[in-house]
Amino acid sequence: MLGETSVSGVIGMVEGEKRGRLGGRSLNPYYEGRKYPEPTVCPRCDLVYRNGRWQVGEVQESGRGVNRSHCPACRREIDRIPGGIVLLSGSYISDRREEILNIVRNQAAAAAANRPLQRIMWIEDKGDAIEIATTDGHLATRIGKAIEAACKGTLSIKRGHEDQLTRVYWERKD
Ligand SMILES: [Zn+2]
Repeated sequence: MLGETSVSGVIGMVEGEKRGRLGGRSLNPYYEGRKYPEPTVCPRCDLVYRNGRWQVGEVQESGRGVNRSHCPACRREIDRIPGGIVLLSGSYISDRREEILNIVRNQAAAAAANRPLQRIMWIEDKGDAIEIATTDGHLATRIGKAIEAACKGTLSIKRGHEDQLTRVYWERKD
């Protein structure tokens, strides 16, 4: 587990990367639109890159050789650089922590069924708040919207450009 300082340091890196980027999208190792030779297998999670996207599947080992490269989600997990951060806060969560975390886990499971690159990286208590890091901003957005739908409260979403960090804030005080 990283402390608060190192987590914000990592996030600062991502935002710095965004500022320094001049249309060089292929330089971003987390860019999901990046092309790989087909088939490519992720040695960490066994996803296969085929037909232009990472998916669950099998590759028949053959003499032609199979390319190996970490998928964008594993790269984020290895480097601990999230694509989405959800911050849940307000006194409402103190008595309903498990109920809310169940919503989070259910949304992640539903997303993973079709989108294996959308994963939760960590769930951490931050004093009175809960931080959820995801590999993908869409999953962070989905989690925030599901919690708002179930628990009301106030939701705000700051979407990242392309694959940059998306921040989702949800709060309910009463
Ligand atoms: Zn992977």
